[in-house]
Amino acid sequence: MPLPPDARPVRAYIGLGGNLDQPVDRIRLARRAISDLEGVREAGFSSLYRSVPMGPADQPDYVNAVMAVDTVLEPLSLLDQLQAIEAANGRVRLGERWGPRTLDLDILLFGDAIIDMERLRVPHPGLCEREFVLVPLQEIAPGLEIPGRGWLRDWVSACPRRGLDVIAM
Ligand code: ATP
Ligand code: MG
Ligand code: MG
Repeated sequence: MPLPPDARPVRAYIGLGGNLDQPVDRIRLARRAISDLEGVREAGFSSLYRSVPMGPADQPDYVNAVMAVDTVLEPLSLLDQLQAIEAANGRVRLGERWGPRTLDLDILLFGDAIIDMERLRVPHPGLCEREFVLVPLQEIAPGLEIPGRGWLRDWVSACPRRGLDVIAM
């Protein structure tokens, strides 16, 4: 949604992923749902990527993307909204870590904030080790510095690609 004219938004990055029940369509729907949130404006969206599952290998490949938003929401409010979108897309937590899911929406970065709460850790703890996050993030924010971790481009160079492929723009 458009932001109020006097707003001082923060640039945040959201990682989108899923591997069940039409993940490409679901990621496109999630993009729309995030863009439609009050207090959120889309600022960029990567290509869609196919990635090899992390954790349990007996599950379908994933589809991943990264979205940039400008937002006036507080970090925990943004997380609430993203979790509501996950739930609306049939996300059920089966107990198995990194098991198959219809939709995963993670806050990767929230401006230059460093947040260390049980419910919300930012920068996202997996960010610097995951090719399916680093590569799409680099596509839309090549000059980014990761708070507390240094230059994005250095993490991208150091990260194996594990079969990551662009599937759609
Ligand atoms: P990972 O976080 O390693 O990618 P996951 O995305 O599969 O794993 P979820 O089941 O989606 O994990 O989320 C588990 C919990 O992580 C959620 O209850 C949420 O509160 C918490 N969490 C902590 N930091 C974040 C973050 N930056 N973005 C989203 N959720 C987070
Ligand atoms: Mg995740
Ligand atoms: Mg998650």
